[in-house]
Amino acid sequence: MPDPALTPAAAPVTLSGVAASPGTGIGPAFILSAPDLSFETLTGQDPAAERVRLDAALAGSRTDLHGVREGARARLGDDAAAIFDAHLLLLDDPELGAAIQESLTGGANAEAAVHGAFEAFIGMFESLDDPYLRERAADLRDLRARVLSHLLGRPLASLAELREPAIVVAHDLTPSDTAGLDPALVRGVVTAVGGRTSHSAIMARGLGLPAVVGVGEAALAGLTRGTPLIVSGDAGTVTVHPDAAALNAAQAAQAAAHAEHARLDALKGQEGRTADGLRVELAANIGSPTEVPGALNAGAEGVGLYRTEFLFLGRDDLPGEDEQYRAYRAVLEGMAGRPVIIRTLDIGGDKALPALGLPHEENPFLGFRAIRLCLARPDLFRVQLRALLRASVHGQLHVMFPMIATVQEFLDARAHLDAARAELTAEGVPVAADIPVGMMVEIPAAAALSEQFARHADFFSVGSNDLIGYAMAADRMNERVANLYQPLNPAVLTLIALTCQGAARHGRWVGVCGEMAGDPLALPLLVGLGVTELSMSSPALLPRREQVLNLNAAQARELAAHALTLSHAAEVEAAVRAAYPHLTPTDA
Ligand code: PEP
Ligand code: MG
Repeated sequence: MPDPALTPAAAPVTLSGVAASPGTGIGPAFILSAPDLSFETLTGQDPAAERVRLDAALAGSRTDLHGVREGARARLGDDAAAIFDAHLLLLDDPELGAAIQESLTGGANAEAAVHGAFEAFIGMFESLDDPYLRERAADLRDLRARVLSHLLGRPLASLAELREPAIVVAHDLTPSDTAGLDPALVRGVVTAVGGRTSHSAIMARGLGLPAVVGVGEAALAGLTRGTPLIVSGDAGTVTVHPDAAALNAAQAAQAAAHAEHARLDALKGQEGRTADGLRVELAANIGSPTEVPGALNAGAEGVGLYRTEFLFLGRDDLPGEDEQYRAYRAVLEGMAGRPVIIRTLDIGGDKALPALGLPHEENPFLGFRAIRLCLARPDLFRVQLRALLRASVHGQLHVMFPMIATVQEFLDARAHLDAARAELTAEGVPVAADIPVGMMVEIPAAAALSEQFARHADFFSVGSNDLIGYAMAADRMNERVANLYQPLNPAVLTLIALTCQGAARHGRWVGVCGEMAGDPLALPLLVGLGVTELSMSSPALLPRREQVLNLNAAQARELAAHALTLSHAAEVEAAVRAAYPHLTPTDA
């Protein structure tokens, strides 16, 4: 029987967007948007009455913070909870309290008193050199918003406030929003903007949450907190005010997905190997240590890509060596001896880092990003490399450099790694002896010169998300050129073939860690071209494992060789579908 809370109050409406993460979610909307905290500045107010309002707001803030802190502790651990301990301490700060009281005594309304007192403290912290203390300014801003939201009666919408199962609806989700999602409460994600390879989509897939992105701002404008929704991450649709028939269909889809999951679960312990014996390792892409249990649960044989930039995003400061070390160590220990490929900072492009204060660029995807930035900022790079090397004794670390365009960049990056190792050794800090050092192949120049790169790099991982974008000159985020973003274009396949050929000459292995690795249509082609490791978001792992177990590598090689002779992506798709007729359109 449909949940009475979801009984439609209006006629059902179906919104369309991009199917970003599979599955079906049913629940009330939780709108994640910053409330309007503007207020009028008043004078001549009654100080005692304003004090009562303020005390109520402070008490409300304290109650929130206790709840948020415990939620963060349970989900994300003690480090995340400590942030809210700091907020609680700031709330009772005597100097701040005295400044607020002084304004109240002068006749200010509580909103103006709070705003003004916090502003003075924020300015003071922001002017300090110590990055730790500067970070406190961000805490003060957060805290001020919380107190004002209580005074104004306009609740803050933060995912940490989520207490009941819901579907999160937002303009977009920042990586830190997504990292704060509690998969136990979030039934699905709907965003106004973004595409399949936007980072919010990738994170939703990593957490196994149904998601539809790019629905458009106007379509979401009519939704309010509690609006009943169904998110179909397979169809890319959102049903608003679903009727009984839609709810029944959604529940049936959930039951079918559940049964399919139970069937695939049996494959978890099996090693990735084709029917004719070729080893193909199936690894997980993760963005934070919290994704490790999900990866293991999906039978990941390793981590093929840990995107470390998520540690850096959504904050006003930079993570220090110890904080980074703890995150890398947690992943290595969590994976318990399985190989873990940690990619060094890939910032720039669609991932901005405010703490670096980088100037605006006309073409950020062709600009100062990833390894280019790291080589220009050894101060930043060395901190990460030292943290990685320190963590190396806790598992099977592989280091990977992103966005490599020239052989010199790879050599320079590795020289920094060697120097960091020498530094640590001189300090008496233990470092693992054997750490493979590889690179992403996501710039066509790297694919073209793969033989020369393979003289130096221990392994390659094809970043197909960017490689397709650069090969086709089509921005992966731009819906207007989405028709050109063609994973199966023979030009893209040729670049991957070149990568595999160059690698083979020096006995190096090639993986794929872009979204193509989890695409069932691409899988036989990739294996046929010589790729022996596929790294993808965890929910894709079991279905792709089943596909690998049933695949004949010799047949895949023939198919791939044929695909390289074709002219159109559509012809390649037709050839794959002809060879594997059981691949249904929804598998794509
Ligand atoms: C890629 O480009 O395919 C890749 C894996 O890197 P990212 O998606 O993080 O740019
Ligand atoms: Mg990339």
